[in-house]
Amino acid sequence: MLNTKIQTVCGEIRPDQLGYCQMHEHIFVRHTPAAVSNPALCFDNEEKSIKELQDYYSNGGRTIIDAQPWSAGRDIRVLARLSQASGVQIVASTGYHLLIFYSTDHWIHFADMHQLTDLFIRELTTGAECQNLKIITPDLRAGIVKAAIPAEGPVGRYEILLRSAAQAAAVTGVPLLIHTEKGKNAIPAVQVCKEEGMQTERIVICHADRQAENLVYHEAIAETGVYLDYDTIHRLAYHDDQQECELISHMIGAGYGNRLLLSLDTTAKRLRSYGGGIGLDYILTTFLDQLKTFGVSAENLQLMVNENPMRVFTQ
Ligand SMILES: [Zn+2]
Repeated sequence: MLNTKIQTVCGEIRPDQLGYCQMHEHIFVRHTPAAVSNPALCFDNEEKSIKELQDYYSNGGRTIIDAQPWSAGRDIRVLARLSQASGVQIVASTGYHLLIFYSTDHWIHFADMHQLTDLFIRELTTGAECQNLKIITPDLRAGIVKAAIPAEGPVGRYEILLRSAAQAAAVTGVPLLIHTEKGKNAIPAVQVCKEEGMQTERIVICHADRQAENLVYHEAIAETGVYLDYDTIHRLAYHDDQQECELISHMIGAGYGNRLLLSLDTTAKRLRSYGGGIGLDYILTTFLDQLKTFGVSAENLQLMVNENPMRVFTQ
């Protein structure tokens, strides 16, 4: 399906208005059970988030895809205010995250596949921010579906959730972002999505670059036709920028430059305005130059931060 519009929290835009885009970010996240053990997963100060986005904009950033799905810390009304205040276009996620983000009595554990798919589709087409299964902001809509699989892959409850998310993405024609644990079981997850009617060109596998040694595995994922979102840039607990550059350069050399996307997957630990180490603008201010020094051409840089994001949504 060819889409001609992309849904942001401030309305529809044309693909050519997307501009420089980081495909997997978090900019404002309310408290969830996951933040109890990792406080960096809650960052909900509007002023600080606006500052972060303003810096991103002034360095050339135009769009972010917010990967915090509904009912897992997302506040879509705040996202709309952040977008208006900063000029950065924000695409919000429906779908679901790892189950650690939800209380044990949350409906995400119990709703059946039909109910889940229906809710995700309503968030994309009718109005977002459902609470207790009720639509409360009909003027705002999500523009993408988020899913997550644990290292074990799409098994048990996660199979039902992934099938629902994939069905919603297939019916509406929007992209599906899949959180993975270092890319583990990405290929079975892609198979599940295909069974639910998705085109592989609309699927984005996130976090595969948390392992940057097994390059053949990266190629195997790319070979399925999905996009790989490389979002472990300057996450030094995994590896340094040099190794990230080597991975990207390898994949471009192997012919997969048209399957790569770049982002930071930020939390409070990384956002400068929250006291974090880098800032949402790190790729723009620093990492793109490192890639250039590494020999990545301007055309390939443009591909990863602008053309590929546009294609994920529209081709
Ligand atoms: Zn994330």
